[in-house]
Amino acid sequence: MQPFNYLRASDAAIAVKTAIQDHQAKFIAGGTNLLDLMKEGVETPQQLIDINDLPRSQIERLPNGGIRIGALARNSDVAYDENIQRQYPVLSEALLSGASPQLRNMATVGGNLLQRTRCYYFTDAGFSSCNKRIPGSGCAAIPGYNRIHAIFGTSDCCIATHPSDMAVALVALDAIIHTQNANGTRQIAIADFYLLPEDTPDRETVLEPGELITAVELPPLLFAARSHYLKVRDRASYDFALVSVAAALDIQDGQITDARIGLGGVATKPWKATEAERVLIGSPANASTFEAAALATIHDAKPQQYNHFKVELLRRTLVQAFFQVTGGEQ
Ligand code: SF4
Repeated sequence: MQPFNYLRASDAAIAVKTAIQDHQAKFIAGGTNLLDLMKEGVETPQQLIDINDLPRSQIERLPNGGIRIGALARNSDVAYDENIQRQYPVLSEALLSGASPQLRNMATVGGNLLQRTRCYYFTDAGFSSCNKRIPGSGCAAIPGYNRIHAIFGTSDCCIATHPSDMAVALVALDAIIHTQNANGTRQIAIADFYLLPEDTPDRETVLEPGELITAVELPPLLFAARSHYLKVRDRASYDFALVSVAAALDIQDGQITDARIGLGGVATKPWKATEAERVLIGSPANASTFEAAALATIHDAKPQQYNHFKVELLRRTLVQAFFQVTGGEQ
């Protein structure tokens, strides 16, 4: 591992100021992804700013009925929070489907949002072609083995999937990211938070240098109490998603009156399934509607040589998720 300086920040303003002054600095909290990448030589920060002492781990109910989660809240604390489980089961299930209990006890909400892709060509510094790791070096995955890669949101520069389960649920729930930067604070809708790779896959979010995630806000969404996260992976005990679906449906008298659908494992960022939502809303909650929504979703998929299977897997997973949310049998 490359040597680095270490600062334990006791104040958010100092942490932000230090990170702005040193663009080679990185914030560290749980470190469950960053330290692995540093050991592999994929991440080489010159300074780590430890933010674990900042008072940002509370999970609190808001007057409007929503919930605010501090960026340093551990994944396991969020997953087992009673209000989260009752109001947003999709988020609890997404968190519990990710990593292992030990990792969830360490990993934070802010770090989960910013975890890096598990594209093999990115995480192995021995490969010389990876535009995300070395801008302008090419993409080894496009002509290479791309079974785990994306079918939505790809570019000629990068086809890597975003690895987070939690972020998929947050996209479905229209979460808001709170940040602190040199100019003060700002709120960013999660739909605007992640960037498509286009020709700069090394830039993954709209965060400016030194900008710190301070909290995630879940808007009040009564019908999210009827929600579910369905994840399909090679190894059920511990693996990243091949395909995942976060679904919340509002059903009145057998009609779907509102829907929020997020997809994981299939796109270069946590993906909002707007076509599925469009088909679902206003339609009866039945098998025909579920099939139509799934078909509308896969219509624009662009698979690579080795991941055609994801298109059909996504169709089936969507339908299964809709049945599970509605309590029906397939
Ligand atoms: Fe790198 Fe993206 Fe290509 Fe993977 S898909 S090798 S992360 S540029």
